[in-house]
Amino acid sequence: MANIIAVANQKGGVGKTTTSVNVSACLAYLGKKVLLVDIDPQGNATSGVGIAKGDIEHCVYNILVDDRDAEEIIQETIVENLHVIPSTIQLAGAEIELVPTISREVRLKRALMKVEKNYDYIIIDCPPSLGLLTINSLTAANAVLIPVQCEYYALEGLSQLLNTVRLVQKHLNVDLEIEGVLLTMLDARTNLGIQVIEEVKKYFQEKVYRAIIPRNVRLGEAPSHGKPIIVYDPKSRGAEVYLDLAKEVLGNG
Ligand code: ADP
Ligand code: MG
Repeated sequence: MANIIAVANQKGGVGKTTTSVNVSACLAYLGKKVLLVDIDPQGNATSGVGIAKGDIEHCVYNILVDDRDAEEIIQETIVENLHVIPSTIQLAGAEIELVPTISREVRLKRALMKVEKNYDYIIIDCPPSLGLLTINSLTAANAVLIPVQCEYYALEGLSQLLNTVRLVQKHLNVDLEIEGVLLTMLDARTNLGIQVIEEVKKYFQEKVYRAIIPRNVRLGEAPSHGKPIIVYDPKSRGAEVYLDLAKEVLGNG
């Protein structure tokens, strides 16, 4: 059985996609078989592992709405051991198209059940909302990884996310756990960052990962080259820290 981790936070720009892409690539680099599921219509995780729009015939939309087998949709990436279920802008319609359908919350879970035996880890990059796409992800996952940006108002909105997690636990997926809370985009030159770290640690305690992702120019550049950081610049600080994070995730089982 694969360890299935949803990377979720309804706030945009907190580092969900960067974390999904790079944790997936680092786990693959460490020898694990990994499937990255892009369930954000923006498709940034898809392009982030080197898949060009023109190379996508079917995407996660076809799994959710057309009941296609995941096996038909999975593609290889530029990283050995790392496969992806891509997303395209077509997915933007799914949130509404799924509303009147039967078992709308469990469609991703059912699709992944058929392929999870092939992987050690499945990482799901969620969109910046708490709608049906994120609900599908939390229902399919056994754990949620929450990136929190080191900025003022860092904790704002997290109670809504935690409430959604509790609702999913109650009604759809009793096994869902918090895998961990990840501090991202730390600017070490400011005191604010340190304050936010303390505040988040006070709230989430031992759930906060030891690895803290710094603001790193190379991490910001890598997506435009369609490469995870471990491929784009393996010696960068960003690569080191995401590798540390992947090791912590491995340690959590
Ligand atoms: P989300 O998926 O939560 O919307 P992203 O991972 O797409 O967030 O990050 C938002 C933007 O910030 C992207 O342009 C990304 O390349 C950049 N970014 C993310 N993490 C870092 C980092 N640690 N250092 C520098 N830039 C980053
Ligand atoms: Mg994203």
